[in-house]
Amino acid sequence: MQQKIPKPVIELKFSSHFELFIAVLLSARSRDTQVNKITKKLFIQASNPRDMLNLGRKKIIYHIRSIGLYKKKTEFIIKSCQILVRKFHGNIPSNRRNLELLPGIGRKSANVILNTAFNKKTIGVDTHVLRVSNRLGLSNSNSPKLVEHQLITRIPKKFILNSHIWLVLHGRYVCKSRHPLCKNCSLNDLCSYRIKIS
Ligand code: SF4
Repeated sequence: MQQKIPKPVIELKFSSHFELFIAVLLSARSRDTQVNKITKKLFIQASNPRDMLNLGRKKIIYHIRSIGLYKKKTEFIIKSCQILVRKFHGNIPSNRRNLELLPGIGRKSANVILNTAFNKKTIGVDTHVLRVSNRLGLSNSNSPKLVEHQLITRIPKKFILNSHIWLVLHGRYVCKSRHPLCKNCSLNDLCSYRIKIS
């Protein structure tokens, strides 16, 4: 994966830590392409927590209404922005403990933010990462937390920073859930799952 995509970047579009935070929050159970469509207009109206609070509930709903769980996500955005203004001077925290104080941000989302915004060696385990890791034999669990632990201990340190994005992109475009493209997969000689299904 390193040879194919030496410098991988996540597919969510953002231009600040706050915008990344909102995009990650919106991306739960939603496609990045759909999130990008929404945030393109939303971030013109509000690209920091104070502007988002000034925008207000009705207008946030208006902008994000086409995405799954939009009502819940609206409440998460409002409550998170209140906390960001009150406790963190409007900045996105750079540690897990404080990130996970923000409604809508669990361990996986915190890992993605820490990795993407702050270059921390964390791995956000979403469905793609979990599936690809298990198929490749890098992990053997359905628990995201355990898979994260297995990946952190098994992937060489120099690759950890980029591994989340490599695994997501591989899962999204090659090692698809129902029909993995094993014939075109650069890892097929290392993969025990391919042998099992062929
Ligand atoms: S060989 Fe097939 S199952 Fe294994 S990682 Fe590649 S696409 Fe996925």
